[in-house]
Amino acid sequence: MYRTNTCGELTLKDEGKSVILCGWVQKSRDLGGMTFVDLRDRYGITQLVFNMDTNSDLCGKARKLGREFVIQAKGKVRERSNKNPKLPTGDIEIDVEELNILNKSEIPPFTIEEDTDGGEELRMKYRYLDLRRPVVRNNIILRHKVAQEVRKYMDSIDFVEVETPVLIKSTPEGARDFVVPSRMQPGTFYALPQSPQTLKQLLMVSGFDRYFQIVKCFRDEDLRADRQPEFTQIDCEMSFVERDDVLDTFEGLAKYLFRQIKGIEFNEPFIRMPFSEAMENYGNDKPDLRFGMKIRDITGLVKGHGFSVFDSSEYIGAVCAPGCSEYSRKQTDELTEFVRRPQIGAKGLVYLKYGADGSLKSSADKFYSQDELKKWVEATGANPGDLLLILAGDRKKTLAALSELRLEMGNRLNLRPRDKYVPLWIVDFPLLEWDEEEKRYFAMHHPFTSPRPEDIPLMQTDPGKVRANAYDLVINGVEIGGGSIRIHDAEVQKLMFKVLGFTDEEAEYQFGFLLNAFKYGAPPHGGIAFGFDRWCAMFGGQDSIRDFIAFPKNNSGRDVMLDTPSEISLKQLNELNIEFRTKKQ
Ligand code: ASP
Repeated sequence: MYRTNTCGELTLKDEGKSVILCGWVQKSRDLGGMTFVDLRDRYGITQLVFNMDTNSDLCGKARKLGREFVIQAKGKVRERSNKNPKLPTGDIEIDVEELNILNKSEIPPFTIEEDTDGGEELRMKYRYLDLRRPVVRNNIILRHKVAQEVRKYMDSIDFVEVETPVLIKSTPEGARDFVVPSRMQPGTFYALPQSPQTLKQLLMVSGFDRYFQIVKCFRDEDLRADRQPEFTQIDCEMSFVERDDVLDTFEGLAKYLFRQIKGIEFNEPFIRMPFSEAMENYGNDKPDLRFGMKIRDITGLVKGHGFSVFDSSEYIGAVCAPGCSEYSRKQTDELTEFVRRPQIGAKGLVYLKYGADGSLKSSADKFYSQDELKKWVEATGANPGDLLLILAGDRKKTLAALSELRLEMGNRLNLRPRDKYVPLWIVDFPLLEWDEEEKRYFAMHHPFTSPRPEDIPLMQTDPGKVRANAYDLVINGVEIGGGSIRIHDAEVQKLMFKVLGFTDEEAEYQFGFLLNAFKYGAPPHGGIAFGFDRWCAMFGGQDSIRDFIAFPKNNSGRDVMLDTPSEISLKQLNELNIEFRTKKQ
């Protein structure tokens, strides 16, 4: 028997027992004739003790143990004189009688403890060592737990988990496809699924009624902390449902997960906010509702007073930062710099300090009387002691910049605590988005998203105004999931393809299989997909999804541990009939 117990379970109750433990040497220290070794496994750390006086051979052997050696130790559990209240096993230690080295280890490239001295790149290269660290391991275990709970809940409400293929045809999620060349049919390619969208719709045609899958999706797009080229979705689809049926079902899942994973009860229904309201009040379709600070449109109020910055702007909006009227010049300068960053793109910042004594001081007060400034605070609901931060410009960009400024002030004022969660549904997204460069409409969600029935006539006359029967679940400013009621009527689908600029032939070539299936009795259906990695990161209280993925890729899409993407052999290229084109200068 390799072991009788794990390194995380022995306590004073086990005092006197003979045990065998196995694990990795985290640390060892020699103190006055005694050698102490911290032995680590997945379950915890247990202290081993070797005594020079009673067994010098054994103690000598222990002194040669290096970090990360794999060992087996036999001995007796005894009470520790120097207890460690931070460890569940901190009241005991093992008085070792026999020590076996199961494997040696080279000196690891970084310390394998809660905090490490290893930088990101190094940790990723040796990810298998990084995964020995409790923080990272616990993230992966949390992920496991979330997956189990998802399966339990979905099964309990009759969803069937169906696996869909990975070698498929392009799916229209708006990103670039990863492609795989076919050897058997030279010159042709599979695409990896950006999501199982079309397949889950086919499963509805098949009558599965309720489908889900925890599934890998692949999108070749620029990466960020919350994006990976391959990521995992909880993908779901249901038949004979309207929007509210889908929202109610998955609100149920969200509430269940919060209860099981975080012990948090949501007794009230989640807020359902139209897209237009989110954009107007928060400048963003994924508002963080942990705090208020809504954006106010003050365009009408401030234009026409000779202040050219405002007079030449399409839109002027303000956020009111509570209790910040005493901001120093340095602080307002910092905020100006913040909004001027290229990724935010505002030209400048105008402020109004509404002093606790009722005084009004603005960076634009040359152009406005005190009475006029008074109207600004009335319109924005500012209170004495508040600071109004105002941006002006093109409506869309200014709202986006105000959204960033609002979040920045939320951070500065500690209004975004990690242990508070405010979920909401965003509904009534626009169906289409105009692309100025390509001068055509794109589906905001994907081309199978149903328009709101009452807006269908607008598809021919004013497509930009059509609202979609689509929804997102947003929690604390993060889009956790999104989906829609689908088009199941062939005529509406044709109209949609037409608005998107597909010819009949193109639609047939790309989605013929789906259009064909819809000829054989497609039920009304709709669904949603959740970003599983994001959900795990949120439950784990972190922003980056990377630490919740066992073997993630870096920002350039590389797996630095596997050292891939990498070249393949000429033989493989030949088999695939692939030849590289040398770039002409
Ligand atoms: N396939 C969609 C996505 O990946 C989700 C859905 O519409 O169900 O975003």
